[in-house]
Amino acid sequence: MASDCLFCGIVAGDIPASIVYSDDAVVAFQDLHPQAPTHVLVIPREHFTDIADLARDPQASAAVLAGIRGFTTEAGISEFRTVFNTGGDAGQTVFHVHAHVLAGRTFSWPPG
Ligand code: AMP
Ligand code: ZN
Repeated sequence: MASDCLFCGIVAGDIPASIVYSDDAVVAFQDLHPQAPTHVLVIPREHFTDIADLARDPQASAAVLAGIRGFTTEAGISEFRTVFNTGGDAGQTVFHVHAHVLAGRTFSWPPG
């Protein structure tokens, strides 16, 4: 756990969040500023900065994908967009890796 990390605080239960799915390796919760009718963040319980950091751990990497599948399956969502912002230029603001899972509307491409 990184002591100054917001999402480690959510994993620890120190910071409130609307948790919609969890398993041994991941927690999924509602984004505070939703960009779609469904906007959930899936995070590993262990602290990794971004996907470059996460990818060094194949088991944790797979667990995040399994968590995305677990949440979407439980929620009955079959069409969704998944985004990992990596670095400030890409829009990353919280440096504990997270998958944005967005659904419930049509998405355009390319993204802004
Ligand atoms: P990113 O900009 O890709 O790093 O995404 C960070 C996301 O975290 C943003 O969509 C924020 O709305 C969301 N966020 C920030 N603080 C919280 C919080 N306390 N609970 C839930 N979502 C949050
Ligand atoms: Zn963290």
